[in-house]
Amino acid sequence: MRKKPSDKSCHCGHRNGDPAIQQEPEYGFLGWIMLSIFGLTPRPDWIAFRCRYCREELGTSRDPRLLARRTTA
Ligand SMILES: [Zn+2]
Repeated sequence: MRKKPSDKSCHCGHRNGDPAIQQEPEYGFLGWIMLSIFGLTPRPDWIAFRCRYCREELGTSRDPRLLARRTTA
């Protein structure tokens, strides 16, 4: 894969692909309703790549395969 969405690093120097960078599912308005009221785990709207230490977001992805993986987690 030649595509590189972001090559930048976060405050503490981690980059995409580093174990410190976590993939966190992000939900839109509807997703939050399903989560909080119905207790369902909706399909995330996108995945955020975020450093677990400084919480800086390095980028997002809407890759359907990533999203599907989070849905069954
Ligand atoms: Zn960081």
